[in-house]
Amino acid sequence: MSDIINILPDAIANQIAAGEVIQRPASVVKELVENAIDAGANRISVVITNAGRTSIQVVDNGKGMSHTDARMAFERHATSKITDASDIFSLRTMGFRGEALASIAAVASVELRTRQTGADFGTLVEIAASSILRHEADSCVEGTSFLVKNLFYNVPARRKFLKSDNTELQHIINEFHRVALANPHIELSLYSNNEPIYELQAGNFKQRITAIFGKKTRNYANQLIAISIDTNMVKISGFVGTPQSATRSATQFFFANGRYMRHPYFNKAVQAAYANMLQPDTQPIYFINLEVRPESIDVNVHPTKTEIKFEDEKEIFSILMASVKESLGKFNFTPSLDFETSDTVAMPLYTADQKPDMFKISLNSCYNPFASSSGGGGYKSSLPKNWDMLYEKHQHHSPQQTQAIQTDCVTQQTEQLPIFGNSDEMQNKFLIYREKYLVTAVKSGLMIIDRQRAMERITYEKIILQLQQGQKATQSLLFPDVAEITADEAVVFDEILPDIEAIGFDLEKTSHNTFNIKGVPSILTDIGNIEELLKEIIADVSDQASTVGKEIYEKIALRTAKAIAKSAFRHSSEQETEALIASLFQCEIPNFAPDGKKILVILSDADIWG
Ligand code: ADP
Ligand code: MG
Repeated sequence: MSDIINILPDAIANQIAAGEVIQRPASVVKELVENAIDAGANRISVVITNAGRTSIQVVDNGKGMSHTDARMAFERHATSKITDASDIFSLRTMGFRGEALASIAAVASVELRTRQTGADFGTLVEIAASSILRHEADSCVEGTSFLVKNLFYNVPARRKFLKSDNTELQHIINEFHRVALANPHIELSLYSNNEPIYELQAGNFKQRITAIFGKKTRNYANQLIAISIDTNMVKISGFVGTPQSATRSATQFFFANGRYMRHPYFNKAVQAAYANMLQPDTQPIYFINLEVRPESIDVNVHPTKTEIKFEDEKEIFSILMASVKESLGKFNFTPSLDFETSDTVAMPLYTADQKPDMFKISLNSCYNPFASSSGGGGYKSSLPKNWDMLYEKHQHHSPQQTQAIQTDCVTQQTEQLPIFGNSDEMQNKFLIYREKYLVTAVKSGLMIIDRQRAMERITYEKIILQLQQGQKATQSLLFPDVAEITADEAVVFDEILPDIEAIGFDLEKTSHNTFNIKGVPSILTDIGNIEELLKEIIADVSDQASTVGKEIYEKIALRTAKAIAKSAFRHSSEQETEALIASLFQCEIPNFAPDGKKILVILSDADIWG
């Protein structure tokens, strides 16, 4: 039998490799721009003709290449970025495989002009389908320019596979967004068919984000809340959107060590931090940078893949979620509704003497989820007497103005509104509208509060705080209740029993599907059917079991809070109502109920009077 194994010629091997690295014009853009960044450029322009089908040019002011390197760069496995295998564990460059240029040159014709900083002359290399056509001195400027023409001209199947110009251009723009966001300090421009699409100045991350995405939306910057945390495992920085800015398909970016990545698992962490703050089917905006030790991520993934594997994924998940939660909590949004200066969006509501206890993150590997929300910042048992003082501190508000508004209301509607406070008292005037709502005047207009939702929020945070502090307040029942659940419910029940008991229930199983209710959380005194509540909790937990959106203890707290809120406000006195408002504004998130529904609206004078 004769031997049948051949070694493929380089040109063919490169073309096959190119199939993986270079899938479309956008891949060329990505590779060339990344090379320019690795070369230390601080100004890069990308010039596209016909969505990259005709030509793609990337010009940089980086360090350039020597005469020999310019030729060498096109060899497969030619790289200046690593010299031995161990280098890949401490990589800080975008590329290292030495495949991109060889691949591009195998499926297009390429003109490279490059000149090293301070060199007397530069080099021109022309190459098509892996054959060198020219390699000579050239009088180009310092830096490097790659011109890639007729992509896939020698691979008709590939060329046919390209989508419409619009689609291909969109892919290019997406790649451009990714590198532009990852490198805000680099001046970057993108031209398509001689039209500028982006001309981005060097700047900070926020400026870059708004330069790219802020065009369509007014006040885009005001929708961004900074996040920042530095632990010895990961450093997280960037911005997340306000819950209100969430949309059906939101702009979401993760970067790991300056490289764009997709990370469905970390995405869930962010999502989870927003639990109950978002309208159904909406996604939060985010731009998040993660920095980790290079050796703790697996860079040895395929070059076109955007997934990155982290060593400490679970811990980073918790840190990320905590960090987003903290920022969302600290910058709750009521003030932005109530402030006249629209550019001070992110202003904590706390006054100097009511500072939230700053949240601490625990770095041990058995991370405690209770430590992940900003503990203690929410409900406080000692309430200020005059809740609207909480506003005043921030409002520089003119008492005359407020009085004017309030007096108006009073004089016009005194008879119908017996609950509307005492007219010679400045603070805490409110009226109750249709049983359900509290109406009161604030500087920027008329604030309407949904009482039940407010109560839900307050109770929810109270329960969570108790849990965080490990305080379990149980009230024993004189006559234990007997409850029966179905076999299905029993399965879930067993699983969540520790969480249920943590919030103060005292339950004793008597058979696989029956149990005695011996005690209930002390805050629960007023509610009726405890068996029903427990069944609802079980339903909630099994319903959303697959979503990371909420921890089990949060679901339990939510359902319990709802049960309490349902009945509580009906028989509340005036003092209790005042206390309710005061407690609400001490909550971490006073304007959304724990299930994401709006608690309050403010009708500005303009809304009312046009
Ligand atoms: P890699 O980036 O993985 O090293 P490439 O095929 O993309 O492989 O590039 C090969 C080499 O060519 C790089 O290692 C670098 O030395 C050189 N090179 C490529 N582009 C540039 C550029 N714009 N400026 C300077 N050197 C470059
Ligand atoms: Mg490269």
